[in-house]
Amino acid sequence: MTKYEVLKTYFGYDSFRPGQELLIDSILQGRDVLGVMPTGAGKSLCYQVPAMLLPGVTVVVSPLISLMNDQVRALNDAGIHAAYINSALTEGQIAKALQYAAQGRYKIVYVAPERLGTYGFLRFCTSVDISMVTVDEAHCISQWGQDFRPSYLKILDFVAGLKKRPVLSAFTATATKEVREDILNVLALENPQTLVTGFDRQNLYFAVEQVRQKDRFLLDYLQAHAGESGIIYCATRKNVDKLWTFLNGQGLPAARYHAGMDNGLRRENQEDFLYDRKPVIVATNAFGMGIDKSNVRYVLHYNMPQSLENYYQEAGRAGRDGEPSECILLYSPQDIVINRFLLENKEDAAELTVQEQETVRRRDELRLRAMIGYCTSTRCLRDHILRYFGEEGVDRCGNCSACLREYREEDVTDAAVEMLRCVRELRQRFGANMVVGTLRGRDNAKLKSYGLERCESYGKLEHLGEEKIKDVLGLLLQEGLLYATPDKYALVKLTPQGNEVLKKYESAIAGEEGAEPVKLLLRTPLAEKEAGEPGGKAAGKTGRGKLSEKLTTRGMELFERLRALRARLAREEGLPPYIVFGDRTLLDLCVKVPLNREQMLDVTGVGENKYRRYGEKFLEEIAAFTGGRQEKLFFGEPQEEKKTAGRRGRQQKAAFSLTREQAEGFPYREEYLAPELAEALMSLVDPASVKRVTGSDIFSAMKSLGYAGERYIEGRMVKTVSEDGLRHGLRMGQRISRSGGAYEDLYYDQDAQRMIVESYVAEPEP
Ligand code: ADP
Ligand code: MG
Repeated sequence: MTKYEVLKTYFGYDSFRPGQELLIDSILQGRDVLGVMPTGAGKSLCYQVPAMLLPGVTVVVSPLISLMNDQVRALNDAGIHAAYINSALTEGQIAKALQYAAQGRYKIVYVAPERLGTYGFLRFCTSVDISMVTVDEAHCISQWGQDFRPSYLKILDFVAGLKKRPVLSAFTATATKEVREDILNVLALENPQTLVTGFDRQNLYFAVEQVRQKDRFLLDYLQAHAGESGIIYCATRKNVDKLWTFLNGQGLPAARYHAGMDNGLRRENQEDFLYDRKPVIVATNAFGMGIDKSNVRYVLHYNMPQSLENYYQEAGRAGRDGEPSECILLYSPQDIVINRFLLENKEDAAELTVQEQETVRRRDELRLRAMIGYCTSTRCLRDHILRYFGEEGVDRCGNCSACLREYREEDVTDAAVEMLRCVRELRQRFGANMVVGTLRGRDNAKLKSYGLERCESYGKLEHLGEEKIKDVLGLLLQEGLLYATPDKYALVKLTPQGNEVLKKYESAIAGEEGAEPVKLLLRTPLAEKEAGEPGGKAAGKTGRGKLSEKLTTRGMELFERLRALRARLAREEGLPPYIVFGDRTLLDLCVKVPLNREQMLDVTGVGENKYRRYGEKFLEEIAAFTGGRQEKLFFGEPQEEKKTAGRRGRQQKAAFSLTREQAEGFPYREEYLAPELAEALMSLVDPASVKRVTGSDIFSAMKSLGYAGERYIEGRMVKTVSEDGLRHGLRMGQRISRSGGAYEDLYYDQDAQRMIVESYVAEPEP
């Protein structure tokens, strides 16, 4: 069998997603791999496909029982023999499973890290040929990750104890560099093929809503999305219970999940959600790791999480099937207080030294700040997230609340300068509250006890009112002219840029030549753009709403019938419905309206085994509905699974490629920056017919080749170039920003340009 045959036969997919193939090929060549891909990108397939092609058994280390259950169930349903070994089984069952495994019945064995060192498991390992050890959720190995699991450290000993070193493959969705390096080091990966794929999930809509009545908002939202599956995250158990009671009281069936509930109750609630018995689950962040439910249409955050890492991971559980889904964060400044409290009361990890604990605390504080920055930003939210994770931004994505809202711009330069002065006058020794109080001219004892009512800045911005003063402070922090110290005092200080701006401004006032003061614009949101306007978004219409836009009324009717059939079959088999078929498969069935086996196998997500199990029943249902005629039940052209992970939301154009002729017309220059290079590439083609190439596409490609990288250092992205990158014509060089500061950027010389141009040339089919 080839890897393509495995993909089609067992999983029912026609093509690999970007990155999957590279990792699969590397594994098959016997090379270690590290795959860093966002949630929903399809990491499992990267080890499951080679596992079917390697001669021996693949052992998959996985942190959670629920995760293993789900995966093993899905594999067996697809016709792949797999088993798991964990504490959910009795000793007798474990012995039996290991006995079967030793007889070679399973191609893939999932195991909890705690089990690796047990006698029974080790004996099994000596009796079979182990081709690969896969570490899923590999960030659990890192002390810097959020989910450090000491038992993950056992993996190394386990591997060292095997007769023959197997291929090691590790996968995670955690993008930070420290974690990535930890994985490489702790697992001692040998010359690994590392792949970091785009973290952008284009099918997700991101929004921050600052609403006064969160409950009211939720109620409206849930009513508008009735029948759709969604997760609501709260910061505390108490909030979960309160909200859960409230929703049920309103007649909205919801499950709930937090660590304070007993195991049985938790499992029951989780299954109610997974099996679509209850559409909504209210949960703390204890819920979700390893939840592979593919048709979650929205993830709402009732409170702000502690970091963007947490947020993106939780929000990323929406729309794994690639269909449009929403991630909405309900923000209130009160959330900052809750989070500070949670951080302050966080237990110190016992295995860390005092100094390490301090580092962790500092890191937590910086992460919280970045999270607050996201909530209060008026810039594109997707851009914010991508830059934070070290990717090139997107400027304006057109699919987040910041891009879809109109803003009023107001020049607040004068007020901003007053504020910078005030911070200087206060000798950078006070926190935000005192800075605002001083400028506002607040008349209180604390202020007076420091004698601040006598300083020059006192009352300078009184006319603006407290809220506006806070907005200006927010702007200065966001623009990096002020910063707050990352300790509990959070003293407001000037950054070097802040100092510079202040100086320039003062010399301009003094009439000096060449000093050009900067202009600071405060943007306040107006009402959301109307639906139907370009870039506008119909309120409450995503997910299933989008499906119904594609399907005719009759198509929608068939969809509902197939959904009911799926539910029936799932019940009979005791499986969650999405394991039988995903929503995407149901949709594709309505688009392709298959009438026989052959046509059915052409539907995404339908492989041989799935066909054997469910095919006929679905064909019968479809035939009964259409009377055996091939009807058209959708608008527009059928959509193929797009080549780019998670990009199915919008694009229908072909991927960017060049003919040999076009490539020859490329305007080579001594050097290009990535966005210029992208523009030069676009100038060669008809932009209406192909997908746009962007600077960030080019940069991502360089990153995944290991030629370039990025580090996030205290709020700033710094690009890097590797030895390999230098050899291929990449170079770091200085640039000057609009505000006059110098920074480093990546330049591409002619060799690099040629490499990139050539990579886009599509050779005609022979
Ligand atoms: P991850 O572990 O990266 O979060 P999963 O491995 O659970 O993601 O995959 C997410 C979803 O994507 C699953 O429903 C999976 O079947 C689907 N998927 C993976 N690879 C492909 C592919 N090549 N074509 C279509 N769907 C795919
Ligand atoms: Mg996974």
